Amino acid sequence: MAFVITQACCSDATCAAVCPADCIHPTPDDPNFLHAEMLYIDPARCIDCAACVEVCPVDAIHSEDELPLDLKGYASINHDYFTGAPPPPVAQPKSTRTVTTDRLAVAVVGAGPSGFYAAAALLDAGPNVTVSLIDRLPTPFGLVRAGVAPDHQDTKGVTRGFAMTVAHPRVNTFLNVEVGTEVSPADLLAHHHAVVYAVGAAAGRRPGIPGDDLPGSFSAAEVVGWYNGHPEYADVAVPLNHPTAVVVGNGNVALDVVRVLLRGQRMDHTDIADHALEALSDSEIREVIVLGRRGPEHAAFSFSQLLALDHLAGVDVVVHSPDLDDASPAPELHHASEYAAKQKLALLAEMASRTPRHDRRIHLRFATAVHGIVGVDAVQGVHVSSAGTEPSVIETGIVVSCVGFDGRPVTGVAFDPAATRIPSRGGRVVDPQGQPVTGQYVTGWIKRGPSGVIGTNKACAEETVDALLDDHRHGLLPEPSQPTAAFANHLEHRSVNRIDRRGWLRIDDHELRQGRSTGRTRRKLVDLGHMTALAGTTPVPAPAVRSTNLKENP
Ligand SMILES: Cc1cc2nc3c(=O)[nH]c(=O)nc-3n(C[C@H](O)[C@H](O)[C@H](O)COP(=O)(O)OP(=O)(O)OC[C@H]3O[C@@H](n4cnc5c(N)ncnc54)[C@H](O)[C@@H]3O)c2cc1C
Ligand code: SF4
Ligand code: SF4
Repeated sequence: MAFVITQACCSDATCAAVCPADCIHPTPDDPNFLHAEMLYIDPARCIDCAACVEVCPVDAIHSEDELPLDLKGYASINHDYFTGAPPPPVAQPKSTRTVTTDRLAVAVVGAGPSGFYAAAALLDAGPNVTVSLIDRLPTPFGLVRAGVAPDHQDTKGVTRGFAMTVAHPRVNTFLNVEVGTEVSPADLLAHHHAVVYAVGAAAGRRPGIPGDDLPGSFSAAEVVGWYNGHPEYADVAVPLNHPTAVVVGNGNVALDVVRVLLRGQRMDHTDIADHALEALSDSEIREVIVLGRRGPEHAAFSFSQLLALDHLAGVDVVVHSPDLDDASPAPELHHASEYAAKQKLALLAEMASRTPRHDRRIHLRFATAVHGIVGVDAVQGVHVSSAGTEPSVIETGIVVSCVGFDGRPVTGVAFDPAATRIPSRGGRVVDPQGQPVTGQYVTGWIKRGPSGVIGTNKACAEETVDALLDDHRHGLLPEPSQPTAAFANHLEHRSVNRIDRRGWLRIDDHELRQGRSTGRTRRKLVDLGHMTALAGTTPVPAPAVRSTNLKENP
């Protein structure tokens, strides 16, 4: 018997750090790490001590004997990674962060994964380091709450560790506070030695083709935000009354959208938004066509996402790719990416040979160019062509473009509009001349762009915090002109409705109780007025009339 890493792995490498047998790979000091879709356990070396299970934040590690049915395949996936793998690099001594005993007050803007990893690294750096954790929404956790699909509840378990950071005595939480509009970067620096921007890159990108502004055409951010109950997208009207839906792009977000559109009504035990659950239960969608621009050897989804499609009950995956037999993984420099690509091609080839049996289908089309979205007052079709075929129109009532995400500028902070990121070097924000801006740092998607899973943000945040601590040690961070403790008063004087940790816990407790009483993980609140009222920052408003008729339990 050995232990096995499975689908929910978010690559934060916590397990590798505690494994006494050095059998979890690739480790962060291995060049394969950044190219790996997940980590793997070498069954030949695992000594079954279960130390990794204890620390995994998303419950991704199981004993081989106790693998749930839909995860059984992961035993060989772990095993096979080590076949032909290059010898792992000699373990490097762990980087030691500068430990400081000086007072250091840091504002972390953005309470998503990268903000939490930055906060944790800062708290580790010394007993007099304090963190003001700020987010524009009334609830923390960024895309873990508003992006990760409802059927990935294990992945959302990473928030248990983040919640411990919120509870840390040296963390002060400021939710419902938007930096750049309600409080300026200069205000933050007046009360803190430094500011770490971890604001993410969650604005949906459009393909920029004719018709992509028609009603019925959405960016991934809109549809994902809608089914995940992001307050900004709760009122999006998603038409589900056509038997065919089209998804443009074939990355992991695209496959999340596919699962929800086809099987969202079965997610009634999860934290899917009430309004989405209700709409999906009347959905007429029977097939989703996924359009990939390049061939199957370049499919952007991960192997584990493809495997998850294969386990959708009552749904066939139909692979359209005439040249699949000849496809071979693009030459890869790294064993980890080559391994994942080979697995994907093998499964795609096997899927292509099957005869469909169900009336619900996912069509994976490759090497298909999308020329435009057609329709008069709303989406009616998508104009496409594939190599060697005549251009055609796929009839549909909804198109979801999963072609990437962009960062949004924060007023008062440098921004690169072409890359839609905050420009930086080694975690330090730089001005248009490339010079570091005193006291400003950046991490996560707004630093690297929208790629990488939750755990990828850990090393990214640690690099940023190392730079910050180094600058502090060299006296480059001036004392703030105002006491840090006065920051809360400053917000109050500006009539900013800040929600603190206790306020958030009231929202959290309400959502969990509502969920428990209906057999669900949680029932999310999506109305900002209701949330701030529950948190105790504003009077309770009259109940808002919402598009859902699901009743709140008393
Ligand atoms: C649809 C989707 C599904 C995903 N699924 C998975 C998955 O299953 N597993 C996995 O490992 N990874 C997944 N990821 C990737 C993962 O979510 C990201 O790696 C991670 O969330 C990036 O973290 P971040 O902190 O940089 O940004 P975010 O998570 O976006 O957090 C940024 C935070 O900053 C706040 N903010 C923004 N602007 C301001 C401002 N001006 N003032 C104050 N606060 C502000 C936002 O409200 C937000 O809370 C998914 C991503 C997407 C888009
Ligand atoms: S069970 Fe123990 S030896 Fe096996 S992978 Fe986990 S930590 Fe390593
Ligand atoms: S999520 Fe982290 S701790 Fe869990 S298996 Fe993946 S790398 Fe290991």
